[in-house]
Amino acid sequence: MAEWRENDAQWHEERMLHCTTCGRMIAKRYLAESSDLGTRIYCTESCLDLYHDYWLVERGPDYRPPPNIGETYADLMVK
Ligand SMILES: [Zn+2]
Repeated sequence: MAEWRENDAQWHEERMLHCTTCGRMIAKRYLAESSDLGTRIYCTESCLDLYHDYWLVERGPDYRPPPNIGETYADLMVK
């Protein structure tokens, strides 16, 4: 179950939140979802849906891009 919350960090605190799906920085309001996987935060309901409908299905909960993704991308695009 997800619920909307507000980031209560003060303006001088460096407590940044990032959307689990798109990585966008969240300044104030965010959608928090707690489950067996822990608490994850999203910037919009679209990102929450995309996480469940695509990310979990295709990548799994612990997926991280490979460390050399930048080089791989550059190699593929330069050709
Ligand atoms: Zn997002």
